[in-house]
Formats: sequence, C-alpha cells, structure tokens
Amino acid sequence: MTRTDELIALEDKYGAHNYHPLPVVLEKGDGVFVWDVEGKKYYDFLSAYSAVNQGHCHPHLVETMTKQAQKLTLTSRAFYNAELGKFDKFMSEYFAFDKVLPMNSGAEAVETALKLCRKWGHEVKGVNPAAGKIIVCDQNFHGRTTTIISFSSDPDAKDGYGPYTPGFEVIPYNDLAALKNALKDEEVIGFMVEPIQGEAGVMVPDADYIPKAAQMCKDANVLFIADEVQTGIARTGSLLAVCGNCSCENKCERQESYTRPDILILGKALSGGMYPVSAVLADDDIMLTIRPGQHGSTFGGNPVAAQVAIAALEVVSDENLAQNARKLGEMFRSEMQRIIDSSDLVTKVRGKGLLNAIVINDTPDSKTAWNICVKLAENGLLAKPTHGNIIRFAPPLVMTEEQLMDCVSIIEKTLSEF
Ligand SMILES: *Cc1c(COP(=O)(O)O)cnc(C)c1O
Repeated sequence: MTRTDELIALEDKYGAHNYHPLPVVLEKGDGVFVWDVEGKKYYDFLSAYSAVNQGHCHPHLVETMTKQAQKLTLTSRAFYNAELGKFDKFMSEYFAFDKVLPMNSGAEAVETALKLCRKWGHEVKGVNPAAGKIIVCDQNFHGRTTTIISFSSDPDAKDGYGPYTPGFEVIPYNDLAALKNALKDEEVIGFMVEPIQGEAGVMVPDADYIPKAAQMCKDANVLFIADEVQTGIARTGSLLAVCGNCSCENKCERQESYTRPDILILGKALSGGMYPVSAVLADDDIMLTIRPGQHGSTFGGNPVAAQVAIAALEVVSDENLAQNARKLGEMFRSEMQRIIDSSDLVTKVRGKGLLNAIVINDTPDSKTAWNICVKLAENGLLAKPTHGNIIRFAPPLVMTEEQLMDCVSIIEKTLSEF
C-alpha cells in the first residue's frame, strides 16, 4: 500500500463521508504549488475555492501569524484585544464602509448579513417583525447552515435537511425583470446575490445586471447584499467583483463602474487561507441595528485573525494581485478559446480575472469532467469539476505569466488525451 492509499483509507474509515475528493493527498504548499505525500508537485488550480489567492504559505502571512500566535491567540469578546480595533480601522478604510463585523467562516458571515438585514427591515424599514422577505437567486451558493440551505436549489445541499427557514424568495439569476417583479412586494427587505456565481459553474451575469439590480433595490428601499466570499479580494481582476472594470486598483476612488452594496460579505481569501476569517461590512444605519449581546462568535475578531487579515490584504495591494488576475485572466481565456476552436471536447470558456471555467461537451451526469481532472492531476495540475461537466480554474493570484503558459500546455496536452 502506498502512503497515499493508507491516508485515504484512514479518512474513509474514520471520517464522515461528506466529500468526494480527487485521490491526491497533499502535505506541502508554496505559492502556486502543492506537493503530495509521494513528493509529486502540482500547480494548484483551485486555490481552496479561492481562499489561497495570495498563494500557499505566503511568507508575510506565515510570519505575521507565527508572531501573533506566540503572543496572544484568543480572549473572546468579553474583553477588548489589542489587535481588533486596528483590524476594524484597516478594513473600514480598505473597503470604504463605516463598520465591520468579524466572524470566521463564510457561512457565518452570510448568516450575519441575513440577521442584519432582518433587524434593519424590522427596525428601520418598519416591516412587521413576523414578516420580511429576502430575495435570493436560483443556483446560489452561500454556505451550508440550515437557514442558508433552506433557499438552495441544489438537491444535494438541501434535501433531507428540512424543516426549512421561511422568509426567502428564489428568483432566476441575471434576470432584472424577475427582480423588478419580486421587489413589488412591500415585505421585501433584502436582495442577496453573488456578483458571479462560483459554485454554479462560474456564471458571469450581463455587465449591467449588478449595477441595475443595486439601483432597483435602492429605489425599492431594499438592502442590496453582495456575497463576495469567493469573488472578492482580487479574484476577478478587481478588489471586488462589484467594482466592475474600475481601474482604481483598490485604493477605491470609487469610480463610476463601482456598485456599492449596502452589505458586503467577505471570507475565504480574507486570510489568504491561513485561518478562517470572514467579515460583514456595512454603514452605521445598518450595522448599529445589532446591539451588544444580540450577535457574536467566540473566535470572531480574535487577535490572530485580525493580524492575519490585515497582512493578507497588504499582500493583495503590495503585489498588485488584482492587476495580475486581470492580465492573466485575459491570457487564460484567449488560450482556452484557441483550444476550443480546434477541438470538440470543450464547448465554452467563461469567467473574469482568474475565476474561470470550461464547459465539457458531455451531459452533466457524465464522468468526463471528473476523468479529465484525474488526468490533469497525473499531468501535474489540480482542478475539480463543479456541476458535472464544468471544470473551474482558479489558480493563486501570485502566478506568473510563464507559469500560466506552462499550465495552459498541461491543460492542452491533457485534453488531447481524450
Ligand atoms: C465558500 C462560499 C461561502 C461559504 O463559505 P464557508 O467558509 O465555506 O462557510 C459562501 N458564499 C460563497 C459565495 C462561497 O463561495
């Protein structure tokens, strides 16, 4: 038995079976690379679902985390800690919102946003406390809690977990007419949306969808909530996907293509994959509707998280990750298009920045995309199918042009084997 087989067997025997990983056991990472227990080196083309935008084990993050871990790790929010205020100020200035509420996982941040929206709806908008409806989109992915899966359209995520939380209405994505119609209901208090639907297969909406949706929400006195847990932090070629093609490169002069959400949800790359750190940002009129004792988290806002998140955002600015993602993304899509033009196996490439996907010419329940990913791994590149026949490509944003072209050759060679 190889070490790989042994370790997989161990997980299989003693771990819950809630995932179906590719048969690769990783033990080391550095920048855009990871190594398995047999010593084989791979390009990481998933980046832990866009949590490792800054690259694996970034030295600035490792140093920051190590230092803080030796000093103070957790106090709970029963007391002040010396790092949280610095984090709050840094975040508030970096993203241009009055206030920030720190949590840990993305799902917790989404839950926080939903609770904030309900509180605002009841206290500020004046909707009956027994009512208040939040609009969400078909094919959404916002996490795994019982409330969040209550409005999922994925049977795997939802079925068997009822009874479901009421107060949500699902409308089609990228459909302004459906949104307009849903907003007629005076009990609507919020609209939560992913600027690009990642888990659904990197669905990029029309360019005017997000700005127009936000304006429609404003006109209807409804909160526009952007879930940028996956799309945020430079992944799509700008600091946030709601920045559109804004060229301010994150110092947020807020040029006209920027759509400002009422509530912004961040997670994943907020820590560069070091540690679970998520956050919700909003202005005072919304954020201060939650008062002391009304929401919280034991680990949320701990000193390690605060330090690591600041460092993770410093890396994004210092290393121009948004610009790099934009430039490499354009190269990647044009290279994929070249492959598509000369083969029948892939029908489409889509995406923005370095959040991209290719669609395999086969039925969604076929094994082709999975088999391609197994072959890609053999050839030294790790990616994972999403929704059957779609393969998402999301490498760390610290990738160089030369490395990207190396990856394109691996992908091209692998596809030619099918
Ligand atoms: C990953 C993700 C979440 C959930 O984050 P977790 O840290 O896994 O709870 C929420 N929303 C979006 C858009 C995501 O991609």
